Amino acid sequence: MGGKPPEGVRLIGEDGRRHDGRLPHELRPIHMEVGVLNNADGSAIVQYGRTRVLAAVYGPREPHQKFPLLPDRAALRVRYHMAPFSTEDRKSPAPSRREIELSKVVRESLEPIVIAEEFPRTVIDVFLEVLQADGGTRTASVTAASLALADAGIPMKALVGSVAIGKVEGVLVVDVDELEDMYGEADMPVAAAPDLGEITLLQLNGVLSREEFSTALEMALESIKTIVDMEKDVLRKTYTSVEGGEQ
Ligand code: ADP
Repeated sequence: MGGKPPEGVRLIGEDGRRHDGRLPHELRPIHMEVGVLNNADGSAIVQYGRTRVLAAVYGPREPHQKFPLLPDRAALRVRYHMAPFSTEDRKSPAPSRREIELSKVVRESLEPIVIAEEFPRTVIDVFLEVLQADGGTRTASVTAASLALADAGIPMKALVGSVAIGKVEGVLVVDVDELEDMYGEADMPVAAAPDLGEITLLQLNGVLSREEFSTALEMALESIKTIVDMEKDVLRKTYTSVEGGEQ
């Protein structure tokens, strides 16, 4: 974060638009699909612009290996992984510290909404595979996991969505991509369940004033509402067409 962008790249142009033509409050084009894998109980693919994440959910089930089960609820396990071909420089396939941390971050974003008490002594596994990374892989992961959990029929209090707000050249912007993340002044990933009025993730890298923070949070919650509405739409469309026998 910080530093000068490459020659000729303006993070915010004269017309107030960002390097990819978006206005500050605009999300990247978002694509969502559920039920994309045959061999998982639930699955989803989510794209925020060039960032592309695949989520697969298994469970509730008995763990294959010995695992400390919880007597009163299912244990939610999340593995976030970046495919070696997901970045410009080939990423090592071995799990990095960052991937271990992001697995925890994504798990904690989901735990408050999963009704794990219905399945004591079981595990629910969420596998996240970043197929292509261009910033916001944790936020796209949370959204993909929420959809895949719903697709697996896991009871949830509500759907969660996630987006990162950034500050670039002093301007607050929605859904930062890799370039903005790299050369911006701040980056604030947020996850929330708008139907519960609950924020499940809030991180801040960099510095925001108190006022900027409030505005950034408002921008995040508004965008998350849009994202969750898209989740509902895709679930509704998928399941109505399945029930109607079109698939
Ligand atoms: P997030 O993907 O949630 O924004 P980071 O802020 O850690 O998480 O990463 C920002 C972006 O930097 C990623 O989306 C990806 O495009 C890039 N990136 C992260 N880790 C690596 C890596 N090991 N190799 C190459 N690019 C990476």
